[in-house]
Amino acid sequence: MYEFAVTPAITQLRRPGVMITAVEPSSLGAELGLEPNDRIVRVNGHLVRDYLDFRFQTAGETELTLLVKKANGETWEIEVERDETEDFGLTFEQIIPRQCANDCIFCFCKGNPKTARPSLFVRDEDIRLSFLYGNYTTLTSVTQEELNRIVRQRLSPQYVSIHATDLKTRAYLLGVSEKRADISDKLKFLLDNNIEIHAQIVLCPKINDGEILQKTLLDLAELYPKIISVAVVPVALTRYNTDERLTRVTPEFCRTVIKQVGKLQKEFRRRFGKTFAFLADEIYIKGGVKIPSRRHYGNYPQIEDGVGMIRTFLDSFKRFLSKLEKGNLNGVESIVPKSVRGSAMQAFANGSISEMSFVQSEVYPKRLRGTILTGEMFAPILAEQIKNLNCLIGSRLEVIAVPNTYFGGDVAVAGLLTGQDFVAFRNKVKGDFVIIPQHTIKSDEPIFLDGMTFDELCSNFKVPVYPLDLKGFIKFILNFGKSNESHSFRRKKIIP
Ligand code: SF4
Repeated sequence: MYEFAVTPAITQLRRPGVMITAVEPSSLGAELGLEPNDRIVRVNGHLVRDYLDFRFQTAGETELTLLVKKANGETWEIEVERDETEDFGLTFEQIIPRQCANDCIFCFCKGNPKTARPSLFVRDEDIRLSFLYGNYTTLTSVTQEELNRIVRQRLSPQYVSIHATDLKTRAYLLGVSEKRADISDKLKFLLDNNIEIHAQIVLCPKINDGEILQKTLLDLAELYPKIISVAVVPVALTRYNTDERLTRVTPEFCRTVIKQVGKLQKEFRRRFGKTFAFLADEIYIKGGVKIPSRRHYGNYPQIEDGVGMIRTFLDSFKRFLSKLEKGNLNGVESIVPKSVRGSAMQAFANGSISEMSFVQSEVYPKRLRGTILTGEMFAPILAEQIKNLNCLIGSRLEVIAVPNTYFGGDVAVAGLLTGQDFVAFRNKVKGDFVIIPQHTIKSDEPIFLDGMTFDELCSNFKVPVYPLDLKGFIKFILNFGKSNESHSFRRKKIIP
């Protein structure tokens, strides 16, 4: 959901230029007298709208003229010469996202409880956020100027929600006219200008499945390799989605889709040497079908969309157990591939695993007892791996599947669990600590989707709570053998 990127939309007004939020001491920016709250309005005469513009206008330039609106109201013109690689040492305000003009029948905003915090109702549709964070856009309201900007500034790849190449179906899903839904010219413009595109299909039973899905995947495959990959993700309905045009995704539906797309995947692998069209992990789990192998996913082009996350988890955990068993932790840090270390996973990172010495399994005391709370979908997969870990090191870790009562419906992914969902399970906790999925907490602020703060959550538990990703978990386990005081946790509050 990339909330960190949309929050400012409701807290800031648009003003010219881009605001500086921090200046590194002794940097070029500090030397020039730039300060937080100053706004850089032009670079070499070109208007600057956001930090992408600033980066683009300054890249490779050694002689620069900056027009700066100082926080005290003064206007400065700064001429500066610098080495090509010299950094200004500036941090800028977040991008204020552009809003979408669609009315998708499955829009996540319609699935929010009325009391959800305002930022969850922001409908971002922004080509900049697509480039920076992999947010999907529909391109329905993107202007020619924005398309030109993508090409000029090489904001590639872009992530585009296609949903269906059948125009009538696409318009129906997006809740707009066919004219507006038709993005064929825009897509052509981007592809002709060598902008790469990752496509997404939100699969809605009885609307864009079956023949429509077949046609969409085959049409998109005609545009390979400029369209690099397609992710097919199932529509997720909370208990607040009451639109009767929508049908819930069932295990049987998932098995049908796996069978249908499986045939196409085979064909694509024969034609392109790549799977090209991927199904979300959720479809395999719900359908009770084995997660495909590592080879199926290639370089995991759609992992942030929930495609291949389970495979990387299983493979990483297996490697971790194997290293643990052999007593060789060299390179243990690389167990979690870079591709799955998104910004959210870095939020509480601290130190380097590779610096840690291995702790012999016999010194892992039975005191490593704790509870891991996670989503209903992931719990059985995690429980199996934790069972292996318990056998290996004698720990007593237990996995508990937490239902999502906040959103309800068929929402069962770990990432959408809220503070109140965890708190409802506080009496089931066993052992000396609780681990929760790190990505249930906002990446730039210690707060859950329901608005509960991390401190509030902790005050409800009698034992410490640790929000961890896999890398953090591995580190936690290794450190635990070293001392009781080894909890590798650092909480950083960015927004007061
Ligand atoms: S594009 Fe559709 S799903 Fe996305 S925010 Fe807009 S209405 Fe919602």
